[in-house]
Amino acid sequence: MPNTAGCSRRARVIAVTGVLALAGAAVAGCGGGAAGGGQVPGAGPHPQVARSGRVTVVYETGTVAPQDREVVALIRKSRVLERTADWVNRTLALPHDLAVKVTGDVPRGVTDAVTQPDGRTVFVPPSFLAEIRKAFADVVKTVERPEPFPASEYNTDDLTVLSTEFIFGHEMGHALQRQLLLANLGLEEDAADGFASFYTIDEVGPGPSLAAAILFDEIARKEGTPTLETMSSDHPVTQQRAYNFLCYLYGSDPREYQRSLVDSGRLPKTRAPLCPQAWAMLDYGWWTQLRPHFSPAFKARGDEEQKQAQARLIAQTRDLAKRIDDIRRSQ
Ligand SMILES: [Zn+2]
Repeated sequence: MPNTAGCSRRARVIAVTGVLALAGAAVAGCGGGAAGGGQVPGAGPHPQVARSGRVTVVYETGTVAPQDREVVALIRKSRVLERTADWVNRTLALPHDLAVKVTGDVPRGVTDAVTQPDGRTVFVPPSFLAEIRKAFADVVKTVERPEPFPASEYNTDDLTVLSTEFIFGHEMGHALQRQLLLANLGLEEDAADGFASFYTIDEVGPGPSLAAAILFDEIARKEGTPTLETMSSDHPVTQQRAYNFLCYLYGSDPREYQRSLVDSGRLPKTRAPLCPQAWAMLDYGWWTQLRPHFSPAFKARGDEEQKQAQARLIAQTRDLAKRIDDIRRSQ
């Protein structure tokens, strides 16, 4: 179980550097035992010393098929997976290590990015990355660039990198829910999408949400009319997910995105007025869920983030109450 609550004064934080130069935090004298997940490498003969779990990203290049090598090199060079892993390592104390494997050596039947049920391994199959890149190769030829997406990044490679960052955020959402046993008030898949929005909007910018919305829009177009199978899936219907991504992005800064997302018709006017409060609730929700698991080094800042998110939610809910009649009339 997580081991940060109530022990920060005793905690001694030791920076450790992993194989892939990902900084991790090791906590001495806090939690301990099996829950801490082991001993700090090189920490010497102190069995009471425990560390929090660390996220590492591994590229198993020997398993990558020749046709997928280019896209794996693209993602590796971008370091988007490492950026997410690094944020989790700095921010949270995980009970277990998390291995992110970009590998062709996946369990039978795995074709997409997946998180194992224990939240300790994420598989990213190279063929899945290649499919994303192939979809964007079509998109840039056939779909007009959405206005908020910069022209300089509207190309196959940048879109592939940005959407991979969002999709990996989704998998990280699963891993956190499962490792930390987070209390969930809705479907896990919704929460995983929510973490991708929460993390990328707060820490990266609009690019991953926009690229993911473009990708899911394209997938939805290719899927056509939803079938019984897609409607009964544990994932929301693909087109709905694309609108959810845009809703959270718009809600995070309505002034910034009013013209490009709402006035342009990309996010319907019936949905948009609900989004600022929806975003405030998501942002507050994730900061609150993660709060008991903040790393000692992040705790003060994290507590402040959570407090500010709560204030924004209260303000947005008040605003929503004032607008609710207008919203109902518009639906
Ligand atoms: Zn999922």
